[in-house]
Amino acid sequence: TPGSVQSVTTLREDVHSALATRTDSVAAVMKEKMDSYYSVPDNVDEEDAFFVGDMGEVIRQHIQWKEMLPRVEPFYAMKCCPDPMVIKTLATLGTGFDCASRTEIETALEYGVDPSKIIYANPCKQTSHIRYAAAKGVHMMTFDNADELRKIKQHMPNAQLVVRILGSDGSRSLCNLGLKFGAPPAIVPSLLQVAKDLELNVIGVSFHVGSGCFDAQVFGDAVKAAAGVIEVAKDFGFEFSMLDIGGGFPSIDDLIPSHIRVIAEPGRYYAASAFTLAVNVVARRAVSRDVKNVEDLVSGEVAVQAPTSANDHPAFMYYINDGMYGSFNCITFDHQICTPRVLAKNGTFMFGAETTEPEYPCSIWGPTCDSIDCITKEGSLPELNVGDWMYFDNMGAYTLAAASRFNGFKKTVILYTNTYKGHN
Ligand code: PLP
Repeated sequence: TPGSVQSVTTLREDVHSALATRTDSVAAVMKEKMDSYYSVPDNVDEEDAFFVGDMGEVIRQHIQWKEMLPRVEPFYAMKCCPDPMVIKTLATLGTGFDCASRTEIETALEYGVDPSKIIYANPCKQTSHIRYAAAKGVHMMTFDNADELRKIKQHMPNAQLVVRILGSDGSRSLCNLGLKFGAPPAIVPSLLQVAKDLELNVIGVSFHVGSGCFDAQVFGDAVKAAAGVIEVAKDFGFEFSMLDIGGGFPSIDDLIPSHIRVIAEPGRYYAASAFTLAVNVVARRAVSRDVKNVEDLVSGEVAVQAPTSANDHPAFMYYINDGMYGSFNCITFDHQICTPRVLAKNGTFMFGAETTEPEYPCSIWGPTCDSIDCITKEGSLPELNVGDWMYFDNMGAYTLAAASRFNGFKKTVILYTNTYKGHN
């Protein structure tokens, strides 16, 4: 309930305060800015699902970034989670921003981000958006084809261009962006020739190995390819000053000369762990546990009675109040696996608590009338009743950003906290 929300944030603070080992002026600034956001908005029902957005986690991720990748300037990929507090936090911390559209550029500028700290990192842009960027002094942008160069010549001839090349193996990522974008290194010389003929200014090279890449080798290969492009560019009179590594953690010092500015476009790195989603069990159906698949679950409804042994216990279909058309669209679009945990049962908070309760098979369904709206087909949880709560960790990346209001369900509200306390 809204009252309990504060208990959840408090519990989360307890967990995370153990992690906060440093302080700097940013923490104080953020605390001041965020106090007004702690309260529960008026239009929230007591059973409504809610996010806890922990800006302290964003701050900690930034500190870690600075420690681990001191040479790489992060330009936050706003598409991942265009949440006002995340943007505000990162703008205060001084990161740059990767914007994909006019609206994202507008948003960054609204938060006081200097145009020189924005990269318009969409290789295929609408011309009116290019004109808008030109009018606002956002000059840095990516391209990966000759037609884009001709458009840019017409609408922003003074652009600072970054050629986006294809990463080597997109299959090592959750989302293979190479299917859509990136010039194969072999055609880069012809693109640079077009840029030279058009008297455009190409200042650097970028790649994106795919969103959610778990293979460091892929980054290494892409950095090597970029180093080759930096050399080739000299033949066309372009002395590159920038490498944009998309999102990632490679060792780049050996390959990239020290005068080259290195930036990155991390999205999920900053947003994913900052958001926890709490959902209410709004309905449930008890089904025989012998049923083998989801279709059988529905037909196999059984009356719940005290089981005489664990094996007599039914399985459950739980219906919760956020789903595939809302925050869980990440299951479809971002190939995420969302694991439920029990947040509150019969009014008792169990956040982070160890439990010895037996678990039973369950499937978890979103609130719409569409049967594709299924979060988990084969889960396992302690028995929950209508009105109990589940939560899902790491729900900040590509969740609310693409949520719809299908069937009239509103987007899930965010309650903010800041568990970054510094070392005091
Ligand atoms: N930059 C570009 C151009 C992207 O398309 C994306 C994601 O789609 C990102 C950065 C952010 O990627 P991630 O959230 O995996 O860091």
